[in-house]
Amino acid sequence: MNLLIMGPPGAGKGTQAETLVKKLGITHISTGDMFRSAIQAGTEMGLKAKEYMDKGELVPDFVVVGMVKERLSQPDCARGFLLDGFPRNVVQAEELDETLKSIGSSLDGVINIVVPREKLIKRVTGRRICRSCGASYHTLFKKPRVDDICDNCGGELYQRTDDNETAVKNRLYVYEASTTPLIDYYSKRGLLRNINGDQDIDKVMEDIFKNICS
Ligand code: ADP
Ligand code: AMP
Repeated sequence: MNLLIMGPPGAGKGTQAETLVKKLGITHISTGDMFRSAIQAGTEMGLKAKEYMDKGELVPDFVVVGMVKERLSQPDCARGFLLDGFPRNVVQAEELDETLKSIGSSLDGVINIVVPREKLIKRVTGRRICRSCGASYHTLFKKPRVDDICDNCGGELYQRTDDNETAVKNRLYVYEASTTPLIDYYSKRGLLRNINGDQDIDKVMEDIFKNICS
């Protein structure tokens, strides 16, 4: 199964993706995580991407499209994949369609997580991420068992440099301007599944599962 998960920053894409890929046995491809790994590794591409990320801007299309194309060609994607954070505009969506077509593949569904805008800033500014495995926590809504330590792997939790109020406001603006046209794009292709993300994490998962398996 080849899926895509979309929604504004803080909607819960990463949180749901973590569980969904385990349940379906598919590969998680998060472009944000890939950029953060590149930053941690100190690569030239990572350092360039960081300039855009810290301001809440999109990294240029040619960089992200090239990175995703390369990732999709790897063998673990043959068992199915979940794209998270890509595409983020219509140009990227068209590039994705072409790439998938060229490898004889296509999307089976697009999960669109819907959360009221006023809840998103609180979700994003309280987010904490595991430095080792990338798992997502929240200071109020999803606390780790031990403060600042990941439940899954014991890694240290940190706050993303772009999870401050100024960058989040810009990310929400960029989402409205560039990414929301994809709702129409995938709806016209009969792929879009709207999911209410304003409920408990487990209930959101239940709804996603019901929707993609029906
Ligand atoms: P995204 O990947 O869409 O930016 P995340 O999955 O990282 O969002 O979630 C953003 C923050 O909100 C995280 O701190 C996460 O723990 C928290 N969160 C995710 N889903 C919910 C939910 N249904 N209710 C409350 N908090 C949530
Ligand atoms: P995310 O982890 O999905 O919240 O992404 C964090 C940041 O990485 C974004 O604010 C962008 O700067 C960058 N990024 C991630 N995915 C993309 C993409 N598909 N296109 C452009 N920039 C991206």
